[in-house]
Amino acid sequence: MRFSENIRLLQPSATIAVSTLAKRLKAEGRDIIDLSAGQPDFDTPTWISDAGVEGIRQGGTRYTPVPGMPRLREAIAEVLSTRAGRPLSPDGVVVSSGAKQSLFNAVFSLFGPGDKVLIGTPYWTSYPQMVVLARAEPGFVAGSSERDLKLTAADLDAVYDDSVRGFMFSTPSNPTGAVYTRSELGDLVAWARERNVWLLSDEIYREIYFGEGSSSAPSLLDFGADEMGPAVLIDGVSKAYAMTGWRIGFSYSDADVAKKFSAFQSHTTSNAATPSQFAALAAYENRARSAEAIREMGQAFRRRRDLLVRLVKEKLPGFDFVKPEGAFYMFLNIESALGASMPDSSEFCKRILEEVGVALVPGVAFGDDRYVRLSYATSDELIEDAIGRVSGFLGQQS
Ligand code: PMP
Ligand code: GLU
Repeated sequence: MRFSENIRLLQPSATIAVSTLAKRLKAEGRDIIDLSAGQPDFDTPTWISDAGVEGIRQGGTRYTPVPGMPRLREAIAEVLSTRAGRPLSPDGVVVSSGAKQSLFNAVFSLFGPGDKVLIGTPYWTSYPQMVVLARAEPGFVAGSSERDLKLTAADLDAVYDDSVRGFMFSTPSNPTGAVYTRSELGDLVAWARERNVWLLSDEIYREIYFGEGSSSAPSLLDFGADEMGPAVLIDGVSKAYAMTGWRIGFSYSDADVAKKFSAFQSHTTSNAATPSQFAALAAYENRARSAEAIREMGQAFRRRRDLLVRLVKEKLPGFDFVKPEGAFYMFLNIESALGASMPDSSEFCKRILEEVGVALVPGVAFGDDRYVRLSYATSDELIEDAIGRVSGFLGQQS
């Protein structure tokens, strides 16, 4: 069958493929521990779900304006303004069906043929695919392991040329959990401003942060309008509010840019699902209640992070990892286990899944074949059991 040139290079999402396989094996009765899931294992707080149901009852079953219900855009702008310490306009907010769509709106609207978009390696698996779908060219930049695989302005300069129009990254990072400090982020912000390059800052894990001194990770919003060049902030309710299935994300940018994103979205999906917008409205309007829910889930993630770090040090000595400071992932370096019989991260994950029933995502899905990603969005018992199984498997190989 002949498909269009648009999808010639398209690969399906590897993260979704692994978790689908893990679910299928489980349904077939196999004893599988799924550390591949890219979503919180908590239910959406009941009062947020109730607001969605109430929205339906009150007639919230029709289209809304494409960029979202005015009240939701205002509530989001309010949250962002508090963070920025200056008023940010609801006109800059475009609500979409998940942060994934917000990212795609931005990539497709801002980049096209002849444009290069820099992407830090390791990256979230969908970034290069989105750039290729826009027929732009991804330019990969590897972060050094001494800096937890984070990038510096010098790394970006080493690959910069006149065709570079954008740079996209996530902090806290999926897949590493590394977090850019305010000063590291400031360097990237200045770099992009000086070169007039679009900065796409994906902060979907911003509120799952274990660092000192703040409940959320440093953000683009920490920088003044005069410090920033062209930039788009991506966020949403999926991760911090345990609302992946509701499909609500948003972008924040200059109002003129937001209008273009909205025009594009008006021809793809129109507005995000109306009942989900009601649920997100409750989440963003009731700040104190949300903060409490996020704090509770965050404490569980931190406890599991500590447990996982301890277990890996104890049971997988010789395996290096990036210390996770946010999100709910660990990026584990498996180089010491690779060899003729297990040459790469895909084979490593395949063998671990088949032989000891633990689902991990191969690092190659994130552009770095020396690693695998573990999600600790699961119970302490399962984390403990999984690391025991991986350690047993590796013991048999040596
Ligand atoms: N960015 C990153 C870094 C992610 O891990 C995810 C997870 N799917 C997304 C964006 C998309 O989030 P959403 O579910 O809101 O589309
Ligand atoms: N972001 C999650 C992950 O990285 C969910 C899956 C996806 O959307 O790719 O696993």
